[in-house]
Amino acid sequence: MCQLFPHLAFQSDETPASWAARLSVLHGCPTLRSFLSDQGIKPSDLLHGRRSVIDRLCQVAGQDAIPVWRNTVSSQGNLNFSLRDELVPASMMVREETRFCPLCLLEDDLACGDPGAGRRDRLAWTLRVVTTCPKHHLALIYRARDHRDNMQHKLIAHVPERGDALSALADGTLRREPSPLQSYVLDRLDGRKGPDWLDSQTMEQAVKVTQMLGVVLAFGTTINLGAVDRDGWDLAGRTGWEWTSAGEQGVHAAFNVLQASAFVRGQGGQNYFTVFGHLYRWLLEPGDRPDHGPIKQLLRNYILQNMDVCVGRNLLGEPVERRRMYSVQSLALETGLHRQTLRKVLVERDLVAPDHSEKPNSILLVDIKKGRDAAAALQRSVQFVQLPALLKATRPIVSCLIDLGLLAPLFRSQGENKRDKSGFDALEVERVMNRLNDLAPEMPQIPPGWITLTQCTKRARVPMRDLLRLVFQREMRKIGRIAGETGFSALRINLDDVRRVMS
Ligand SMILES: [Zn+2]
Repeated sequence: MCQLFPHLAFQSDETPASWAARLSVLHGCPTLRSFLSDQGIKPSDLLHGRRSVIDRLCQVAGQDAIPVWRNTVSSQGNLNFSLRDELVPASMMVREETRFCPLCLLEDDLACGDPGAGRRDRLAWTLRVVTTCPKHHLALIYRARDHRDNMQHKLIAHVPERGDALSALADGTLRREPSPLQSYVLDRLDGRKGPDWLDSQTMEQAVKVTQMLGVVLAFGTTINLGAVDRDGWDLAGRTGWEWTSAGEQGVHAAFNVLQASAFVRGQGGQNYFTVFGHLYRWLLEPGDRPDHGPIKQLLRNYILQNMDVCVGRNLLGEPVERRRMYSVQSLALETGLHRQTLRKVLVERDLVAPDHSEKPNSILLVDIKKGRDAAAALQRSVQFVQLPALLKATRPIVSCLIDLGLLAPLFRSQGENKRDKSGFDALEVERVMNRLNDLAPEMPQIPPGWITLTQCTKRARVPMRDLLRLVFQREMRKIGRIAGETGFSALRINLDDVRRVMS
């Protein structure tokens, strides 16, 4: 077989198609197609990156095939390609568009008089995630789309600028650091490692999760994805990188930020789309690539641990088995309690902050155990007016018990007669009764001089409140209760003992 002469070495940063196009120009062929057919190669085979074609081309050009194969994006069918050790879907590739850095082309032109033989289409430019020249830190320029067959001369046809015109183009182009996501992909293709969490995913998953998290964090949850341009996606990748590069912890922190910002807007509840925006919608859509990577389980776990869920309902592909949190709304629904009343009890118990009064019940969250305890207390609540009968006490005694904190209302009512509207936990009422019965033992015979609480206040001139405090502090030694009776009315105290304690 005849070898082509002169020799044109493959460059380690270019695509095989770029090299073939340069060869065809160097050897005076009018088109890449005719050059390839001269060598018995079908152009489509070159575009599909078939190994036999690469070998054949290297053979006629006298080129070591290893570096060429290293840069070959090889079709695996089903819109998938392989590049080095990575599987790269077609959606990550730029196949029918001209992207370039004017300073790279200027360098090519200076090194070789004929742009057709000198200009190299960089492998990096064919990856959609690469938007900045890694060498010159210039935003890549995008030019007309064209059919693949015409692509061989695209750097000539679509970039007519030479010399100073290329410099002027560079002067008018945005300068920026390459995005860390772009650098990650290029490093990964070069075999470098880290961050671990991203390395554990396919390259597509790593890029996509970073961009989807970033697009929501950079532009908000209501952004129309169709309105995000290339620079927007570049910014999304940079934003998402700050979180995904920190692995699971970083992603968890990003979820926290999104939830907190939704809360400020008064959004959340079981409407996860308002919290996580397109990140959530993306995970809902099976699309042609149902495997989104570990992000799906991470977000599902986050929602289960930190948000209101509906048991039995499907959440990101699996039904919810149990809940960890309630919203005020879901707790009220489950228990059949009045939302606003329940909310007052939760505020009283510091489970809901009082300064969140303008927030809807659907986004105020409470821990499941504490929430259920509060709801149960409300379900067995008794009204203030029932307390005298339950405690067998006068109304002033009941009022003093509340003032002393021995009985606490489930919530504080506003306005007139507020005490009358307050509910009390029946279990707490029972506890007060038990304490009282415990500290005042039954007496078969009440000795003379032992009188009721009300009598004590009058005869010893001591306020009821003080007297009750002494009783519950177990200061009284001579205290008892009528046999077979319970409650405050059955209580008898030795007057001298009261005087002794008071002196
Ligand atoms: Zn460049």
